[in-house]
Amino acid sequence: MAHLIGPKCRLCRREGHKLFIKGARCNSDKCAFTRRSYAPGNHGQAFKKLTEYGRQLREKQKARRIFDIPEKQLANYYTLASSRSGDTSTNLLLLLTMRLDSVVYNLGVVESPRHARQLVTHGAFLLNGRRVDIPSIQVKPGDILELREHSKKSKVGIELAKIKAKSPAWLKFDVKTMKGEVLDFPPEESLKDLNINSQLIVEFYSR
Ligand code: SF4
Repeated sequence: MAHLIGPKCRLCRREGHKLFIKGARCNSDKCAFTRRSYAPGNHGQAFKKLTEYGRQLREKQKARRIFDIPEKQLANYYTLASSRSGDTSTNLLLLLTMRLDSVVYNLGVVESPRHARQLVTHGAFLLNGRRVDIPSIQVKPGDILELREHSKKSKVGIELAKIKAKSPAWLKFDVKTMKGEVLDFPPEESLKDLNINSQLIVEFYSR
């Protein structure tokens, strides 16, 4: 399976966490997890003690669902993270956070990761002046992201112009020019906000 299909709210209920897949709805009373914070299915409310492997598997699945990436891609990120110097679990989170679609979401101009991915795949952004449409491109400090002229005039551009971008300190976005810059790598506090225990994912892949 390439990407996640089917009802998204079931994924949050399955993982036992809000994954914020649906944007504004996630912070409203309509959030399915707020109303039913137990796993879907007939036995969703039954108490189940997870094994160590089960905990690792669930954390890996949670990361896949938050970033909407296929299994193979996450496994490749792990291989890359472990080949770099430093802590593998931190490297893994950095690789996930510095994906182009994740950076667009973090700029604060769209309400959900899914919308960010859609904008990227439709080629709405220029990266350092070049049109890009691959969500998995790794972005680095100093990179400039800009909404394309064509997209600025479209409905997307108008909708984005209404948004008051709230970027984290490691990113900058100017709503007037629709231009953003990656100032730095995300600090550890930002990675913690992801609420992913990446050490468990490392343990899953290093079994
Ligand atoms: Fe998850 Fe958002 Fe659905 Fe709530 S509304 S269950 S946070 S996807």
